[in-house]
Amino acid sequence: MIYKRSSALFTAAQKVIPGGVNSPVRAFKAVGGDPIFVTEAKGAYLYDEDGNRLIDYINSWGPMILGHAHPPVVNAVVDKAKKGTSFGMPTEIETQIAELAVSMVPNIDKIRFVNSGTEACMSAVRLARGYTGKDKIIKFAGCYHGHSDSFLIQAGSGAVTFGSPNSPGVTKGTAQDTLLARYNDLDHVERIIMSNQGEIACIIIEPIAGNMGCIPPVKGFLEGLRSLCDTHGILLIFDEVMTGFRLAKGGAQELTGVDADIVTFGKVIGGGLPVGAFAARAEIMNHLAPLGPVYQAGTLSGNPLAMAAGLAMLNELNNNPEIFKSLASKTEYLHHGIANTLDEHNITYTINRIGSMISVHFAGDTVVDFDTAAKGNNDTFKKFFHGMLDNGVYIAPSAFETWFITEALTYEDLDETIATVQKVAKIL
Ligand code: PMP
Repeated sequence: MIYKRSSALFTAAQKVIPGGVNSPVRAFKAVGGDPIFVTEAKGAYLYDEDGNRLIDYINSWGPMILGHAHPPVVNAVVDKAKKGTSFGMPTEIETQIAELAVSMVPNIDKIRFVNSGTEACMSAVRLARGYTGKDKIIKFAGCYHGHSDSFLIQAGSGAVTFGSPNSPGVTKGTAQDTLLARYNDLDHVERIIMSNQGEIACIIIEPIAGNMGCIPPVKGFLEGLRSLCDTHGILLIFDEVMTGFRLAKGGAQELTGVDADIVTFGKVIGGGLPVGAFAARAEIMNHLAPLGPVYQAGTLSGNPLAMAAGLAMLNELNNNPEIFKSLASKTEYLHHGIANTLDEHNITYTINRIGSMISVHFAGDTVVDFDTAAKGNNDTFKKFFHGMLDNGVYIAPSAFETWFITEALTYEDLDETIATVQKVAKIL
């Protein structure tokens, strides 16, 4: 496929936007080459500036669970936009989407909407600190919770891709309050807690990690975290920015049966508009301003367009829970198709999958944490990525990312993708 116009647009963009992009992973730095500039998208497909059609396995990094330009979502946004785009005053639709979200997700009474996953996680941690009166937090190497200072300590996703998991600009003081644990290693978490007794406000975790590629929790890990938190008076924050409303109506809490104290959301909850949210039991949420002393605010929070898109999306997922099964079946089909092909070509790989999240690690061992994910062969990944792209299939431009399956994909699309893997496997 030809990507000439995309390359020209990238050259122009680099003159006025740092690195030519407004979010680093988009720059293709981990895989080389120029990023693709999109003109429009519909269902499972992206259309680019050179007139190519790509099957999309990223789906705006998750939100397009029902496909791009999904009519109920688009119509809801268009109708709302005609009535004004922001008021900075309460609207009924905020209560409607809050009621729906609270009814779908276990263990939460109240929810507050913000504008991104970063904001959701940053606010959740502030709330946990305000509620417990403690300063330190535990996060896991390779997990990404947005670009707020406290989280850029061995962060995953773009932070690791760009070699700055500990970003300059984060003060030593902030970094000292973030304690780093190994994912899926309960003993390590326990040792950290024991040596910081009475100082830890919360443990924040991606209950199913997606930012070092897809890494599900091993059996007993989340349950173990829950009981450590109960024993030591620590709040457990599930960052469900990826998993919320994607893996099940009630997200990872429902899927794993483990309760969190605070849950953060993004992506799906905004139907593709800039939204995040955090939620908890009333007893915790009532610490937020204006009820309580923990300050958190936003001029555009609860924005009518974002609420309309999110409500249309959540209504559909709530009314048709079969979607989650269908998504998981499609992902399983893809998994087997790719695995069989890579086996035929004697390629070393591990595929991790849960629900509609999947990633191919070109690593032989089981991939359970950041260290094992980092053992993947990046040269093979690069060839794989470009081979797929040249044949019209767009996967994440970094090995440290998950693919997000959309319901808009048909089995014909999946077969086309598997046929592309067959073609590409020959050159790996
Ligand atoms: N948490 C997780 C688990 C994420 O995957 C992301 C983004 N990929 C974020 C937080 C940050 O969300 P945003 O990019 O909307 O700020």
